[in-house]
Amino acid sequence: MGKAHSDLAKLKLQVTTDIDEEHAKIFGAHQMMLKDISLIKEIEDEIRSKLLNVEQVVQNVFQRHEQNMRGAKSNVFQERANDIIDVGRRLLKVLVGVNKNDLSILPKNAVIFAQRLLPSDTATLNINNAKAIVTVEGAQNSHAAILARALDIPFVAKISIKNDVFLSEQRIIVDGEKGEIIINPAPEELKTYPELIKKRLKAKQKIIREIQDVPLKKDNQTIHVYANVSSHSEFKMVKMFNADGIGLYRTEPYYMGSSRLPTEDELYTKLEKTLKDMTGQKVFLRLLDIGGDKTLPFLNIVELKDPALGLNGIRFLLKHPRLLQLQLRVFLRLSEKYKVNIIVPMVTLASDMRRVHQYLDQEERRLANAGIKNYSKIPVGAMIETPAALLSIDELLDYCDFLSFGTNDLVQYVMAAGREKIEVSDYYEAGNKMILPALEAAIQKAKNRGIECCICGELAGNLRYTEDLLNIGMTNFSVQPALIPAIKKKIHSVIWYQNSPKSPVSVT
Ligand code: PEP
Ligand code: MG
Repeated sequence: MGKAHSDLAKLKLQVTTDIDEEHAKIFGAHQMMLKDISLIKEIEDEIRSKLLNVEQVVQNVFQRHEQNMRGAKSNVFQERANDIIDVGRRLLKVLVGVNKNDLSILPKNAVIFAQRLLPSDTATLNINNAKAIVTVEGAQNSHAAILARALDIPFVAKISIKNDVFLSEQRIIVDGEKGEIIINPAPEELKTYPELIKKRLKAKQKIIREIQDVPLKKDNQTIHVYANVSSHSEFKMVKMFNADGIGLYRTEPYYMGSSRLPTEDELYTKLEKTLKDMTGQKVFLRLLDIGGDKTLPFLNIVELKDPALGLNGIRFLLKHPRLLQLQLRVFLRLSEKYKVNIIVPMVTLASDMRRVHQYLDQEERRLANAGIKNYSKIPVGAMIETPAALLSIDELLDYCDFLSFGTNDLVQYVMAAGREKIEVSDYYEAGNKMILPALEAAIQKAKNRGIECCICGELAGNLRYTEDLLNIGMTNFSVQPALIPAIKKKIHSVIWYQNSPKSPVSVT
């Protein structure tokens, strides 16, 4: 209990400084829960009466309390149930020494089977040992799928495993391209699959070699292919596949993968370490995009009702300005070495952007007055991922140096079809086509004002839409690093066919 208490005290202090006292209060409440005499007595009595080990009893007692709260149905009790799980997990972690949901400790060549992977689960994933991911739930646009694609880890969803199939210690082949898994493969399959993997990698490298010096230009405008990243591990592929820069840097894993908020120096050091090779190339850093299915495990901000319609992205940051200010200071410091651009997530009102500019100016002034440095203005752009942002594009453009189209969320909000919900994936898919005219109108308006546009949702990496996107005037694509060769090849051939009836460079 002592260790759990001191962890909570540290967390409380840090959240008070970096967010506010209001949010820190929750950890005070958790401390009280740990001190609750009746709870301690219940645990002691159960150990004595049932002769079970302390870990088991703690789990039983906390589960019982959680279920009682859930049974009450009211929102207040539901939230309280989450607090109980949280405190129970903290205590168990101290007792057992590990976190039940911690994927940072994996045996070599592990295949992860899960009902569903939450962003906070994948944030700590040991990508050196994770060879593949298989989930029962989850769709192509879930964050787990995006992360897996980014790291080139085979990911197969919608697999149902019968309860009596014992998978531990079994050999398994996960074919992400076919969406299949083979349990206990035949010797022949064990031989052919490693060869297939090598062949696929070689094909990608060949495309890059052949296309590397071919300028991608349409109507005299250069087409850039950037990389979407969210961790250090993806940068190897960014280099290997010759990305034009980083089109979307999701910074959430630096928050979600930790048991507390990173300090300004910690965040700076982590980002700076990953950006080392990116001097001279544009990097679009996104402000923390918390909300929806992405929560901070150490902050009880889970919205139980309609999380996708709540305090997401910039709304959350504007409610917690210290968190926003800290990130802006980090991005300003990084702009000394790198061509930093700031992406603002979940913008719905022009005033969201206006307020970000105010905070940025304030931080610039603060650093200049403290004699630290006079930073020059960093370009700031809105992520267009809500219908409201598209509808108010004229007003938004007044505050944008660029636009970044986040079609993953845009499609879900336009179609009222959750990006993770398999039951409505047909509706979601139909939305990809449906939004194109609206994107075209926004791109045209931006171009008229000399403002660049980039698409960074998964649509950018979907070869079925590359031609459509080029035709509506998209000039910047930001995709998962592993997809760069295929997208470059596709862009090259679309442009080539449009300019000439002859066949394009052979790059298969
Ligand atoms: C998007 O919504 O398209 C996007 C790129 O952001 P994320 O997938 O992180 O929500
Ligand atoms: Mg989004």
